[in-house]
Amino acid sequence: MEETQTKVTKMEQLTPIYYSVVALSGEQNHRCAYCQLHMKLHFAEPVLHVSQLATRDHVMARSHGGSDDWENLVAACHICNSLKETMDAYWFAKFIARLFTWTKYREQWHTLTESEQSRVRKALKRSYRRYQLQQQVRYQRAIVR
Ligand SMILES: [Zn+2]
Repeated sequence: MEETQTKVTKMEQLTPIYYSVVALSGEQNHRCAYCQLHMKLHFAEPVLHVSQLATRDHVMARSHGGSDDWENLVAACHICNSLKETMDAYWFAKFIARLFTWTKYREQWHTLTESEQSRVRKALKRSYRRYQLQQQVRYQRAIVR
């Protein structure tokens, strides 16, 4: 009984946002929605590196009109969350899954220097810009037809 009470008290200390991270992460088998690598919840497991920490992410960024509704939320690792910004979620998932699998950048993120991290960010933004331009060209061609 006492133990139950202790647990309730502990849970009451958790914010609603943390609750949703726990639920979302569970739904995704604790794999990041973008890079697909394993994430950790900081109450459930000892956190090795902050890069593995599960966070809550808006699929469509709030600044782009994305809502706080459940359908617009996913659990994403700390690194993906910090890299995605307002990029298209589907494009980002494809790009980052390849990048992190090939380079192991996510596991090594904490060992990268600031300038190495900023190189990754720049490469990501360049690729996204290229994707956006291609989309524009496709759209304009469709109009011309
Ligand atoms: Zn991730």
